[in-house]
Amino acid sequence: MRWSEAADGIDLTGSMVRVRLVVNGRVQGVGFRPTVYRYAKERGLGGFVKNTNEGVVIELKGRGPDIESFGKALLKHPPPLAVIESLSVSLAEPAGGKDFRILESEVAGKPGTLYPVDTAVCADCLREMRDPEDRRYRYPFINCTNCGPRFTIIEGLPYDRPLTTMNEFGMDPYCRTEYTDPANRRFHAEPVSCPGCGPVLELVSAGGDQVKGDPVVEAVRLLKEGRILAIKGLGGYHLSCLACEPEPVAKLRRRKKRPAKPFAVMFRDIGAVERFCLVNEKERELLLSPRSPIVILKKKSLDTRGESALEEVESLPEEVAPRNGYIGAFLPYTPLHHLLFENIEVLVMTSANFTDEPLISTEQELEKIMGGIADYALTNNRRIAHKCDDSIYFVPGSLPVPLRRARGYVPEPLYLEESADDPDSGGKAGRKLSFTAKGPAKESVLALGGQEKGAFALTKGDSVFVSAHLGDLADIRSQQNYRRELEDFQKMLHVTPQMVVRDMHPDYFTSRLAGELEAERVIEVQHHHAHAVSVMAEYGLREPVLAVSFDGTGYGGDGTLWGGEFLLAGYGGFERLAHIKYLPLTGGEKAVEEPWRMALMHLRNLYGDGVLEASDIISRLFRGKEAGVILDMAARGVNSIPTSSIGRLFDAVSFLVTGISRASFEGEAPIALEEAALKSSDTEKRYRFDYVTKDTTVIDPAPLFEAMLADIKSGAPSGEMASAFHHSVADMTVDILKRLSREHDCSRVVVSGGVFQNRFLCESLMKGASPLDLELYFHRKVPPNDGGISLGQARVGIERIITGSSQA
Ligand code: ZN
Ligand code: FE
Repeated sequence: MRWSEAADGIDLTGSMVRVRLVVNGRVQGVGFRPTVYRYAKERGLGGFVKNTNEGVVIELKGRGPDIESFGKALLKHPPPLAVIESLSVSLAEPAGGKDFRILESEVAGKPGTLYPVDTAVCADCLREMRDPEDRRYRYPFINCTNCGPRFTIIEGLPYDRPLTTMNEFGMDPYCRTEYTDPANRRFHAEPVSCPGCGPVLELVSAGGDQVKGDPVVEAVRLLKEGRILAIKGLGGYHLSCLACEPEPVAKLRRRKKRPAKPFAVMFRDIGAVERFCLVNEKERELLLSPRSPIVILKKKSLDTRGESALEEVESLPEEVAPRNGYIGAFLPYTPLHHLLFENIEVLVMTSANFTDEPLISTEQELEKIMGGIADYALTNNRRIAHKCDDSIYFVPGSLPVPLRRARGYVPEPLYLEESADDPDSGGKAGRKLSFTAKGPAKESVLALGGQEKGAFALTKGDSVFVSAHLGDLADIRSQQNYRRELEDFQKMLHVTPQMVVRDMHPDYFTSRLAGELEAERVIEVQHHHAHAVSVMAEYGLREPVLAVSFDGTGYGGDGTLWGGEFLLAGYGGFERLAHIKYLPLTGGEKAVEEPWRMALMHLRNLYGDGVLEASDIISRLFRGKEAGVILDMAARGVNSIPTSSIGRLFDAVSFLVTGISRASFEGEAPIALEEAALKSSDTEKRYRFDYVTKDTTVIDPAPLFEAMLADIKSGAPSGEMASAFHHSVADMTVDILKRLSREHDCSRVVVSGGVFQNRFLCESLMKGASPLDLELYFHRKVPPNDGGISLGQARVGIERIITGSSQA
């Protein structure tokens, strides 16, 4: 956006010009108006600025060159959190008044364009917090227009103090003065507070006693003694303990009944992160961004080839992330975190909850974990309006991909566009969807998402609002939280969906919910089609595209469970071009928990029902397991739904390579397999797949298993096998894509599904595809796992409305 373009054709040569600017983008609640005020005052301009439903409207009066200088300054130096997406300039009728004023927001019954996200404490606030002369010296709730809680305190829109949980606190004269002074950096900072009027910290023991002394100092002391603390943050409580010693971490694992799922780790600063993890430029950028997500980083101790191989590398205890090549790292993002980290370097900071239940965010819920899990709680009396987990990113190659979209990103909308020619325009170059021509919010689509990583999407015009990560919807409390958030979003956005989109799976909570909701239309979208369209919608890709959709399992619509799919996909529909060979998923969910079952099915695929007698190695692998029962189940087709899942192929191979026969969380087996691959320096070795093509291509991993058995027999290193397997899957993918790309004259490929949370695989695929005429599109706004499918579902729903297709 350049001033010369915005002001094209406007005569700014006069000594008394009056213009009207309309600014859109991320321009409300980010200190925009005080900046405008300052820039206008500095140039002696009269007029006003106000928030309206159109965007921020600025009227300016004064010398033409001063107006021009104002416009250039605003575009070049907007407030740090602002993003100016459009600026329009028009001449206005001159009227009286030399003053420049900030006017009250127009609240015209409809919410404005502001969807505020929680933002890490800024440098200015930190400076004040550390200044003994400042009124907010060591005040753990310091914030300003550039930083602080937002989504997690809002109870309605427009974003205004009375509609936040800060409405429970009055403002003392000190804060009131700052809040009402247009030149102050806390002008309309809705959560403004100080020790005289704001929330207070409290440190309580499991028995309910208040701990005497400074809560921060005492909390640090307890943590250093090896205690486990529940610490109230922005969107909920964290469970925290020392991360540099194994005992507290092991204790937390026992108490949380979480034997292996990795814990996130908060480091004092970027230097501390770099002592334990490998950090590239993109990762550093993410870690330091005001959105402050968790970033999945490679453990430095695994870097056997790089520079760190030469240094004495420190590592965190294995208990932090067992059999995992990565650490989920993040930096302090609230003022309280910064206070705690003055005397501590590394802490485990994991979401406070029981296994699959939602994040704990109220003091009532906190009760349930006091004593049983947490020894103490560092809490406060600012209410959390929305549960909101930490967001998570990882960076395959140099591409930041979200794994969980929550704090710092929600409720910011994603924008839909139509077939952008330049997919890197980031939502700007594409024409608006014709859908919006029907008028904003005329029709809204509600997409309910999947099951295990719940998240819904609600559309309004060309905006899609994706909820925060809502956890595993098998849990009744997660379901309740899902319903609550859904109601809140509809109220906040003032929309009532006409169309509800659901997955085809008959047993998902969201599928049942679709039946309860009173919408004019309910449509079903196939799981892997939704994955594919999620990526297409992110980039506004022109259809059709080739889609690689690799995940655990998704309902195929034909009674089978898919999960290793190559599609030709459009917004309205898809064609299945290739998939992994169907094998029985014996015992359903059981087969997911026990990777050995899928391994047995793959070996049965190779050797038939007599597989257990086929070799000594096989009989040894399955000794002590109910292999006979499972083979019998498969042979009789009892509780053995056919699946083409590639996630289950990773499980099976992991069992052979790592020996993990029972997974305590989804992903444990593939994560251990990836860790093994990271330890290997071999990059040449490959396994082979068979392809059988009739109407579709069926990819048979039988030769791969044959070769792996031979490797096991000859005692090949597990890392070598793991690495070869990853590269082989990537090569197979590239092979298939090469052919499909030719046959369908299509070089654009979208890549989605939970299997692409595997960085080793993503990077191998990127490398394999780079010399070819294939353009790969990975997720960059929503996760590749099922947390991202609601976006695709919503886009398919909109397509149905646009094309008037009645077919469900
Ligand atoms: Zn600040
Ligand atoms: Fe999926």
